[in-house]
Amino acid sequence: MTSTALPTTEDLRGRARTALERVGVSVPDGSGLIARTPITGDHLFELAAATPADAEDAIAASRAAFLTWRTTPAPRRGELVRRLGELLRDHKSDLADLITIEAGKIRSEALGEVQEMIDICDFAVGLSRQLYGRTIASERPGHRLAETWHPLGVVGVISAFNFPAAVWSWNTAVALACGDTVIWKPSDLTPLISLACDRLLARAAEDVGAPRDVHRLLLGDRAVGEKLVDDPRVALVSATGSTRMGREVGPRVAARFGRSLLELGGNNAAIVAPSADLDLAVQGIVFAAAGTAGQRCTTLRRLIVHRDIADTLIARLTAAYNKLPIGNPFDEDTLVGPLISPAALDTMQSALARVQAEGGKVLAGGNRRLAEALPRAAYAEPVIVRVDEQSEVVREETFAPILYVLTYDTLEEAIALHNDVPQGLSSSIFTRDQQEAELFLSAEGSDCGIANVNIGTSGAEIGGAFGGEKETGGGRESGSDSWRAYMRPATNTINYSSRLALAQNVSFL
Ligand code: NAD
Repeated sequence: MTSTALPTTEDLRGRARTALERVGVSVPDGSGLIARTPITGDHLFELAAATPADAEDAIAASRAAFLTWRTTPAPRRGELVRRLGELLRDHKSDLADLITIEAGKIRSEALGEVQEMIDICDFAVGLSRQLYGRTIASERPGHRLAETWHPLGVVGVISAFNFPAAVWSWNTAVALACGDTVIWKPSDLTPLISLACDRLLARAAEDVGAPRDVHRLLLGDRAVGEKLVDDPRVALVSATGSTRMGREVGPRVAARFGRSLLELGGNNAAIVAPSADLDLAVQGIVFAAAGTAGQRCTTLRRLIVHRDIADTLIARLTAAYNKLPIGNPFDEDTLVGPLISPAALDTMQSALARVQAEGGKVLAGGNRRLAEALPRAAYAEPVIVRVDEQSEVVREETFAPILYVLTYDTLEEAIALHNDVPQGLSSSIFTRDQQEAELFLSAEGSDCGIANVNIGTSGAEIGGAFGGEKETGGGRESGSDSWRAYMRPATNTINYSSRLALAQNVSFL
């Protein structure tokens, strides 16, 4: 199915301008950075890209703001995040419009992304009263050992196009509550939503009397990101994007002994066991594999199905895929919007050609859509490909809606296949057998940062820590105790006796 009503670029430009004006941004004029929409593939505005001097100014201002922000009591820092959350609620629809226009997300997912931002603000407000350290039993009489957590400094946030606002909010809400200041280098594919978020945070800072420079925005390409990567005044670089990017950023930050938090690519799989509830599995798989047009880091890319149920499950999945409405993401009926760019479509088609050359069989989808009506956009049918083995192409992350289906006979074999990829982000098992579920979640089960039962790989809640192992980078963001990455612990030994006792019974003097 294809949604027929298509917006014009002029409609989208007008809608973007209205959303921006409602949050308080007048569309800036400049040069060096093009804002475009994947819905039609056309340019919307030309904006100013940050210069090296802008990056220097932002780092100096952010560092200066940190010196006062770090001593502002944490619950008062939380007030800034609370106000940001209120403004996000007020402008939920405007922000969702910008996400759809720039990233191509369908309306419900774009609203969901803004909801996630609101949720993390609520979480970080609570966190501002819960930056707990432990008290440790001392081996010495009259002594107390304690752990104190202090703000870290300037946090550089580098983010990807596919969660153009939520990733910023996960980092920023938590970092601000922890007493850090933030410089944001968003994807150059999504500058408009970035301007809107920056403006709302500036308004929140004005409203609560926080320094404006607790947050700075630098629009531009990777060269701007590299300034944050290399500058020793940036204490933590939190970088979300491809493994290729992480491979460059990680060692460069480490070379100056900075900290990095890497959230990189995934190659997520689900195992479907013979006892699985197939109604539930089909729903979970289709959302995880075809939702967001396959452009989530947690998108389901590999399905490992028990041989006895493979034909039944594949028949149900292909039937569902053949009915997926593809097209205008603003249309309430659409479930699959555009890929981010024609280059992304080329990458998808070349992965499909490779896997077919190896004997992979396309079972549903895979064609380009709307090429005549929107030749500069990239709409594609999500595709299911049956493969006999986990070849090189299957083991790569292709950032497009391709679902590879493999079969297994024993759960041990399924888990081995599951873990035999370089990435380690998200995973799931569909089963009604408790032993199987627990084995999958155990130390000899999934090797991912996220392991689910009877739910797909995508769509995490903010309350849990988010991130993955191996080439996914090892970072954790968002909930649980991820906040510790944004602070530095100090161990304090306090002697409240009048005797100097040395540890380990050492005697001296
Ligand atoms: P990308 O790697 O092309 O770009 C991500 C960001 O890094 C952009 O802001 C880019 O300008 C910047 N960048 C690139 N090279 C850089 C360098 N050498 N130094 C400094 N900055 C640099 O990724 P993308 O295409 O925007 O996003 C898709 C990728 O992101 C996928 O691989 C996806 O899995 C991953 N992703 C991961 C997570 C996660 O939490 N694990 C979340 C979202 C997206």
